[in-house]
Amino acid sequence: MAKKSSAKSTDYPTFLRELLEAKSPTGHEFAAQAVIDAYVEKSADKYERDALGNRIATLKGTGGPTLMFAGHIDEIGLIISHVDDRGFLYFEFLGGHDQVIPSGRRIHILTRQGPVLGVTGKRAVHLLSPEDRKRVPERHDMWIDIGVTSRTEAQGIVRIGDPAVYADGPEILRGSLGVARAFDDKAGAYVCMEAFRRVAKDKRIAATVVSVATTQEEIGTRGAQVAAQGLRPDVSITVDVGHATDHPDADNRKFGKFALSGGPIIGRGPNINPVVFDHLVKTAEDLEIPYQIQAESRPTGTDARAIQMANSGVACGLVSIPLRYMHTPGEVVDLKVVEQAVELLAGFARRVKKKQSYAW
Ligand SMILES: [Zn+2]
Repeated sequence: MAKKSSAKSTDYPTFLRELLEAKSPTGHEFAAQAVIDAYVEKSADKYERDALGNRIATLKGTGGPTLMFAGHIDEIGLIISHVDDRGFLYFEFLGGHDQVIPSGRRIHILTRQGPVLGVTGKRAVHLLSPEDRKRVPERHDMWIDIGVTSRTEAQGIVRIGDPAVYADGPEILRGSLGVARAFDDKAGAYVCMEAFRRVAKDKRIAATVVSVATTQEEIGTRGAQVAAQGLRPDVSITVDVGHATDHPDADNRKFGKFALSGGPIIGRGPNINPVVFDHLVKTAEDLEIPYQIQAESRPTGTDARAIQMANSGVACGLVSIPLRYMHTPGEVVDLKVVEQAVELLAGFARRVKKKQSYAW
């Protein structure tokens, strides 16, 4: 019997899919580093690994400014902090969690022997007092169950300090919409590195392009800080995720209006250099890429915050991929917007002039 043809949907580029499948909680980015190494190293003139785990790919230009791309490869997770006498595991958070999310999930603990399945438990709703039902569980009200019966048995499998991530991998929600844990910020890291790979196929451009897969963003933009300090870029574009507000519980008066499929979001405000902002908009318009503009009144919660203040200052731009349900296992993005952001970054790099100044 012939197979029925399924509804047409965009699939993930393999590079992005592998990044999303890589389990890389903050401070333990090994698996994502390996994916970046495999896809990017051969396109680079120079490729470096540093003490914070950053991956730094350089493409030499013809004497123009140094342009740094930054996208973080760490993701939020848990870290095992205590094993009780019956073998239940307690944890701390790696990065910011909404505490209604962690319980009732399948997770993978990254152990010496590889990923181990666990379940996050808490007392069932039937056993909660009416007051407790209204309360958000505290971190210590939840635990991880790996199916053992003693501390000794648990300690034969996991060590204190082993990290964990939700088990949810990438799937297509519908059409070009993808759902996965950790689009924040595998989507951004992919955009930076895929744009780099495309520019690497051009004949030399004016700018020296340095694309950095940064680490430890989720606990304070730490990888980006040291990378920018060491690389001394003139100009930089950070790619991260932003909040799509086209869902039932986002007041546009408070959060602005950002459509999931409305194109990359270009940030504007004190963290953003006005020349870089103008060039990003001009590039989007030249390439007929739809875009949205977000006002950023403060240092942004992205790598751009650290990069801007490195050395004697860096001209920063920020491109965000609109995303629903940030920091949950069900983050949603439109893969078409991810591709638009790749072209926007590559286009920006190609347009940097040899004598470009970002002073204003
Ligand atoms: Zn995040």
